[in-house]
Amino acid sequence: MRMEYPEYYERFECIAGACTDSCCARWEIDVDDESYYTYQTVQGPFGDRIRGCLHEEVKEGEDGPEYEWSFPLTPDRRCPFLNDADLCDMYTALGHDKLPRTCREFPRGDAVVGKYHQIDVALACPEANRLIFEDLEHPIKYINRAEPTGVPALDRYCAVEEPALSGEETGRLYDLLEERNQLMEVLQDWSFPLKDRYGVLFALATEYGVDASAENHEALVELIDRMELLDERWTRVYDPVKRAMDEGFPCDFVLQGLAEWTGAGTRPEEGSLDAAMVDSEKELVRFLVYLVFRYYIDGYFENSLTGVYRLLLRGFHMMRLLLAALPQEAFLDAETRRDLYHVWSREVEHSPENFRLIKSE
Ligand code: SF4
Repeated sequence: MRMEYPEYYERFECIAGACTDSCCARWEIDVDDESYYTYQTVQGPFGDRIRGCLHEEVKEGEDGPEYEWSFPLTPDRRCPFLNDADLCDMYTALGHDKLPRTCREFPRGDAVVGKYHQIDVALACPEANRLIFEDLEHPIKYINRAEPTGVPALDRYCAVEEPALSGEETGRLYDLLEERNQLMEVLQDWSFPLKDRYGVLFALATEYGVDASAENHEALVELIDRMELLDERWTRVYDPVKRAMDEGFPCDFVLQGLAEWTGAGTRPEEGSLDAAMVDSEKELVRFLVYLVFRYYIDGYFENSLTGVYRLLLRGFHMMRLLLAALPQEAFLDAETRRDLYHVWSREVEHSPENFRLIKSE
């Protein structure tokens, strides 16, 4: 098994009580099949409580009915097992191994194809978000290795293996990963002006059938209006965009970007809007690289990179809109800017409905 992951993955640790968010509130918990069947065997009042919280949805699949289970939120938008002390009753009663897969893994995410296993952590977690934006001065390094690392959170992936790929499938996978790596390298190469690096992204998007010019602000706002609302914080960050479409963007310079910026030369005066703009553009690049690494593999499963490029372009332009709609004092604050990515990730990456929408025509 070959694993690949960003270098910050090894440093990730849940900060639990010190976390400014909670992964146990504001979104429904999907229950995987294995956990569902385990919960059917739990005895006593706690077993009854679990089964009482389970929600079942039946969809018509190609081969008959398909079942999906979840734990819907309570009226105050918390997980039904999160108690008043913000501790998980299921964890206390049954232990970590019996939590649904979503809870066991979050914010870790993985994709496995044959002997290739890709692993990372999601921007929706504030601690992962901090690590992703921690070092703006260097490109994100990705580690590719076949041997165990000694880090238990990684080594458990060594054992997972899918059926071997055919020669044709292996070739397709490695071509895709090669293209992904080149794109990540170009995006993070500060010796080229930003406009050239984004130009490579847009050219590839066109090659894969995405019309970059159609992804304008009006089309994006129309798309966002169709999204399911998962978290009221999304309203807080998105409402200013709607207002700004009529009244003008407080940080309208963000919409243009730093076209000629290469990273060379002296840094603008600390605390100035120019310095914030430079950092903001570096954050945007890291966000793109995060998306490229995480989702390029979808092109293998979907047999097309069109949906992936829609996601990349729309994610990129949505973030520009959210950033440009910030009041200028808020834009100066790195934590406020980075929190936009956290809120975006919760709303888009962690809603299957919104994620499908952003990748679709
Ligand atoms: S969001 Fe991240 S840091 Fe916060 S509790 Fe969840 S896993 Fe831990």
